[in-house]
Order: sequence, then C-alpha cells, then structure tokens
Amino acid sequence: MNRLWAPWRRTYLRSSPDKRTGCLFCGLLKDTKDKKNLVLSRTAHYAVILNRYPYNNGHLMIVPRRHVAHLAQLNALERAEFFDVLTRMQNALCRAMKPHGFNLGMNIEDIAGAGIPDHLHWHIVPRWKGDVNFMPVVAGSKVISESLESAYEVLKKALAEQDAARRKQAVSRKGGKKK
Ligand SMILES: [Zn+2]
Repeated sequence: MNRLWAPWRRTYLRSSPDKRTGCLFCGLLKDTKDKKNLVLSRTAHYAVILNRYPYNNGHLMIVPRRHVAHLAQLNALERAEFFDVLTRMQNALCRAMKPHGFNLGMNIEDIAGAGIPDHLHWHIVPRWKGDVNFMPVVAGSKVISESLESAYEVLKKALAEQDAARRKQAVSRKGGKKK
C-alpha cells in the first residue's frame, strides 16, 4: 500500500502551473491541449485526468474545476456531481480495461502524501490480480508513455461508447412514453 499511495514525483509538479495560483491542476484545466495533458473528460464541475506517474495502468484523478483544498469548500452542485463522475469513470475503466478491483481514495495534506495539497483530487486506481509488480515492469519511461497513450485512447473510446449507449437508452425511454 505504501507504494500505491506514495507522493508524486516532483518533476510533474513543476510542469505547467497556473500563473495565478501556481497550481498544476489549474494550469491543465485552463489549457486546451487535453490529449497532450491526458485530460480524458470535462464535466460541469470536474475534469478527469490520467495520472502521468501512475501507480497502475489506467490510474485516473478526478479534479474539481475550482481551486479548493478542502471537502467543506465544495458546493452542493459539486458534491452532487461527484458520484456521477466517479461512477461514469469506473464504468469506463471496467469497459476498457476489465480490472479485477479498484482502489479509490484521496490524500489530504502533505503528511498524507498529497502531491498537490492545495487542489483537492480523488484517485481511481484499477487493480488486477498479480499487478503488484506493475511499477518494476514498466519502469522505463518509454514503456510508461506508450502505456499512457494507449490507456488514453481505450478510455476515450469506452467513454464515447458508454455515452452513446446512454443517449440511445434515453431516446428509447422518450419514445416509450409517447405510446
Ligand atoms: Zn488549482
């Protein structure tokens, strides 16, 4: 577990912070290069980003669009949307990568291992039987970047399929009502 929830590497924290807040997440949220930045999805109040230094393949972060550090600072709309986003992303991971389980969680403040303590975020880490050796296996940076690109693509595809299926369901429900 220590390895799974260890702090991020410092290099990531220096990559492209927002000028005003000095925050990496705010920088990524403001930028429009979602594919380059591994931003998978944006909703009204959240963005979902693939962790560039993952603890496992498909490691995602759910980040509020607002720069807030504490759960108590989330408003009612943000609190309500969170579980929709979490469920949607867990479904997409199941569809795309067929994990055997998940670790869901957050690190609050430095002492708990938060890499970016000033901007709240949740981790979703898919787990497979026998995956404890993931980091040594993909230790080379080339392998990690290839696996990130492929994770981005399969998850994008899974989200598109999922959303299309949901739209179809909504349309057929609407049609059903008319009868
Ligand atoms: Zn921020």
